[in-house]
Amino acid sequence: AKGDGRRTYRFFETGMDQRAKARRSLELELRQAINNGGLETYYQPVVNIEDGKISSCEALLRWRHPERGMISPAEFIPIAEDSGLINQLGLWVLNTACAEAATWPDHVRVAVNVSPVQFRSQSLALNVAAALAACGLPASRLELEITEAVLIRDDEAALDMLHQLRKLGVRIALDDFGTGYSSLSYLQRFPFDKIKIDRSFIKDIAGPGASSSIVQAVVNIAAASDMTTTAEGVETEQQRNLLYILGCDEMQGYLFSPAIPAIDVRRLLLTHRGR
Ligand code: C2E
Ligand code: CA
Ligand code: CA
Ligand code: CA
Repeated sequence: AKGDGRRTYRFFETGMDQRAKARRSLELELRQAINNGGLETYYQPVVNIEDGKISSCEALLRWRHPERGMISPAEFIPIAEDSGLINQLGLWVLNTACAEAATWPDHVRVAVNVSPVQFRSQSLALNVAAALAACGLPASRLELEITEAVLIRDDEAALDMLHQLRKLGVRIALDDFGTGYSSLSYLQRFPFDKIKIDRSFIKDIAGPGASSSIVQAVVNIAAASDMTTTAEGVETEQQRNLLYILGCDEMQGYLFSPAIPAIDVRRLLLTHRGR
């Protein structure tokens, strides 16, 4: 029995080894992709629910791997976060997205996702200011999307950074709202400009569960605190209509458009006039 146990242990260790190796090689490839231009930012339009006009576009990273094809950011962002590559990657997205937005019509903002890891670095506000200055984009046209994970650790430092960013004039959105813990308390601690309601609630909004009541509650809280609301992952006309009735301000999702390459978004922004 003892021998068996040891064999099982060795087998387990090998499995772990392989996974660690695969992760390590993906990390090396990601490092190369960052340096050699293997990454691209796509942009997903966010539209006003009432008139269908595009108010902003969210920058979403894409990695076209030479052998594996498109790798989802859901897979490589965690690797970038664990390895520290996220700082370099995040800086690249920030600069790329700001430069791109500087070519858009004046009323369209760009939204950039900021990892909690980036948030903990003291230089974030400086990097943001430098990115804006480099392409002449007004701060009011940049929106940073952060998740509650930012506020869980290091409360004071995180709040201080949020205030520094706000002082620059950029807008701050709370992303994936409703997926974390004790969400409501965060809304009292910092006045976000926007709440993005997570796709999980939108998916079930027409169903028998509590989703539509939750969305209604979020919209009410936002209205009372001078924040706007954006529904994520809107895929059907029925969802859009319900969100409109509930008083949600904006929507984002496949119903209007998935994330598309920069060149396509530029063309769309020149021709789109709303519904
Ligand atoms: P997120 O910030 O919540 O972005 C929304 C995700 O939902 C995107 O997935 C988008 O393509 C997808 N989506 C949009 N509309 C629909 C819809 O109608 N239906 C469905 N099923 N999905 C929809 P994506 O691009 O795969 O990104 C996944 C996550 O990776 C993002 O979630 C974000 O957390 C992270 N991410 C992407 N780009 C960056 C980045 O530049 N920096 C950081 N730190 N994270 C990023
Ligand atoms: Ca986001
Ligand atoms: Ca989100
Ligand atoms: Ca999400």
